Amino acid sequence: MANFTLHHLLLCLLLFAAPLVAFATSTPDDFLQCLSLHSGNASAISKLVYTPINSSYSSVLDITIENLRFLTPSAPKPNYIVTPLDVSHVQAAIICSQQYGLQMRTRSGGHDYEGLSYLSEVPFVILDMANLRSISVDVEDKTAWVQSGATVGELYYRIAEKSKTLGFPAGLCPTVGVGGHFSGGGYGTLLRKYGLAADNVIDAQLVDAQGRLLDRESMGEDLFWAIRGGGGGSFGVVVSWKVKLVPVPSTVTVFTILRTLEQNATKLVHQWQLVANKLPDDLFIRLILQSYNSGPNGTRTMQAIFQTLYLGGVDSLLEVTRSSFPELNVTRQDCTEMSWIESVVYFAGFPSGTPLEILLNRSSNTKTFFKNKSDYVREPIPESG
Ligand SMILES: Cc1cc2nc3c(=O)[nH]c(=O)nc-3n(C[C@H](O)[C@H](O)[C@H](O)COP(=O)(O)OP(=O)(O)OC[C@H]3O[C@@H](n4cnc5c(N)ncnc54)[C@H](O)[C@@H]3O)c2cc1C
Repeated sequence: MANFTLHHLLLCLLLFAAPLVAFATSTPDDFLQCLSLHSGNASAISKLVYTPINSSYSSVLDITIENLRFLTPSAPKPNYIVTPLDVSHVQAAIICSQQYGLQMRTRSGGHDYEGLSYLSEVPFVILDMANLRSISVDVEDKTAWVQSGATVGELYYRIAEKSKTLGFPAGLCPTVGVGGHFSGGGYGTLLRKYGLAADNVIDAQLVDAQGRLLDRESMGEDLFWAIRGGGGGSFGVVVSWKVKLVPVPSTVTVFTILRTLEQNATKLVHQWQLVANKLPDDLFIRLILQSYNSGPNGTRTMQAIFQTLYLGGVDSLLEVTRSSFPELNVTRQDCTEMSWIESVVYFAGFPSGTPLEILLNRSSNTKTFFKNKSDYVREPIPESG
């Protein structure tokens, strides 16, 4: 038994030590040569790889780091950033990272809460999908192929460019990347009616750890299930996704109602918990709670923000809110009718009249320091709570 354990220990040490030795004795040229050897477009590869000695290395690295906690000189930096233009570059990066003992981090939109797409404690390569962001929308078929490096804002924009009555159920923040978002779930204002982004994925192209390009059929249903919610980085690199588009009316209605504690916010929040999940599927009401300074001397209070998307016009919205959430006292003046794509811009927090092209802006100008954690409330919080 002791021999058996020792034997296995040595084997493990050898297996794990080998790549590190490969990296320690290799030079950047070796890695680049490996990439050229394994990619279909060898002449382009050197232009797609950034090392710390390149002048644009820092800007390429920093551009989609969303969390300012990790935008610091002391954050771990990659040995290489590879920005593939086609699938063969992705395959080459996977094969060569293994060969040279480098961990690979895949980054699409860079919105990971803990920076998992661009940080590592061991020598690593970032595979940055930003160049792989084509989107092709098929209105007849009500589907689209979208590459992982696209943002959800770009996807929404390209859909709306072709149809006023098709949309896609994904997140509110337009700069979130399709790659991380779809592989983790992805929820937004259409969630009540159409579920998560991942629920509406019907095919995908994935490069696995052996560098094989697989689609839904060749990867099999188990893996296809896993990449739609299990976090894509655990299973390979998803290059592109085929999604089912969903019908949206040509007119939707939005409102944002603010209520402080003094304006009965506690009771409204409590009531919201009881009704929000029972409203008709066309009605999404989200709640944001935040502290708020009221009055000139800055008295601190809490403010509840009820923000709504309704898939229909204002008249029927008022009927629904009067019967299902009368306490909120929604009035016609609170409501604005618009197109679905305008509601995307509204929920992204831009002022009314902002051109739709803002959705094509890939880098967020509201980067902050943050620590986020999501959870689900299964039991309503009592009013005293
Ligand atoms: C400001 C902000 C707003 C947000 N709003 C919403 C929202 O409204 N709704 C919602 O559901 N979520 C929201 N999120 C969370 C967001 O959906 C997730 O953080 C998501 O994983 C980000 O995807 P990304 O491609 O931008 O991130 P990345 O940091 O690029 O990647 C996230 C993870 O996915 C992996 N990954 C990325 N690309 C690929 C790929 N092509 N193949 C395999 N693995 C890959 C990465 O390695 C990493 O582990 C928000 C996050 C932020 C920071």
